[in-house]
Order: sequence, then structure tokens, then C-alpha cells
Amino acid sequence: MSATDRIRGAIRDVPDFPKPGIVFKDITTILNRPDLFRETMDLLEARWKGSGIDVVAAIESRGFLFGAALADRLGLALVPVRKSGKLPADTHRVEYELEYGTDSLEIHRDAFPSGARVLVVDDLLATGGTAEATARLVELAGGRVAGFAFVVHLAFLGGAKRIGGYDLHFLVEY
Ligand code: AMP
Repeated sequence: MSATDRIRGAIRDVPDFPKPGIVFKDITTILNRPDLFRETMDLLEARWKGSGIDVVAAIESRGFLFGAALADRLGLALVPVRKSGKLPADTHRVEYELEYGTDSLEIHRDAFPSGARVLVVDDLLATGGTAEATARLVELAGGRVAGFAFVVHLAFLGGAKRIGGYDLHFLVEY
């Protein structure tokens, strides 16, 4: 069995969370197995080591778990992308559409030097709204998106099309 098969096998489906009809892909069942979390990080590290990125931007909140570990392994700066109202210093803010209503994300204006090559990390790509908003934030802050890394890709939701111009990396696809 390959590492990706082991990771896929460990991800827990939780039906009807956070609301009816959604099948939530729970990655806490990777985190609570040190061997699997290490294998997950090994795959992310192998893909992005030596790829010329300068900064890892991690999306709140499950993106922090993988993004922080990856930044540490690569010896790179870590930048949190957070829900509005959480970051204390001056920010850029981007609103994006949800199924019902809108949400917004922020990044510190001085998060990285202008021209920095930024890898965006999150646990899962669904419709791509969150990832697309994060790409806009990185660019507003003067960075260049070097790629996206996700543990899980829900391919049937079309998110990869929305961020299709970028280098995309997934460990497990559904
Ligand atoms: P989206 O903006 O639609 O691509 O949604 C991506 C964000 O929502 C990520 O930060 C995910 O953690 C979360 N998310 C969306 N759908 C799911 C799902 N089925 N299971 C777990 N997390 C999800």
C-alpha cells in the first residue's frame, strides 16, 4: 500500500456536517496518527523542497496545521491567512462568495517582501472560493503565487478550474 493510499484510508467521512447533505472530510484522523502525519508531511516536503518558493501562506484554520509543519520543514517564513478581524496589524481584505452570502479573509500588508514567491496551503480544495480569494490576497500584498498544496481535492466541485492558472498539488483526490 502506498503512502497516499494510507492517507486516503485514514481520512474520515462525517456525513451531514456541518449541515445536512455535506460529507465532511475529517483530517484529524491523520493528525492523531504520528506515522501518517509524518508521511503526509514527507509527501508535501518532497514536492515543494527546492522549488524556489520563499514563503508558505496557510489558510485558517486547518491549513495552519499542514502549512506550519511544511514551513518548518522547508525552513521558510510562515504567513497566516485569517478570517476577518483576527489579524492585529494593517491588513488587506478580500470578500468572496459562499453558497449563501459572503465571507472574507485577510493577510497582513507587510507579510512578505514584494515579489516573494508564495506557496498557499490548505487541508482541502472544494469549490475553490477560499483558494481564489487567498491568491488575490497574496497578490494584493505584492507576492506571486508559486502554487497551491492541498491534502484533499474534492474534484467534482470544480475548484481546480477556478485556480487553474496555478501549479496545483493534491495528495488525495475524490
Ligand atoms: P472552498 O472554498 O469551497 O474550496 O472550501 C474550502 C474550505 O472549506 C477549506 O478550508 C476546507 O477546509 C473547507 N471545506 C469545504 N468543504 C469541505 C468538506 N467537504 N470537508 C472538509 N472541509 C471542507
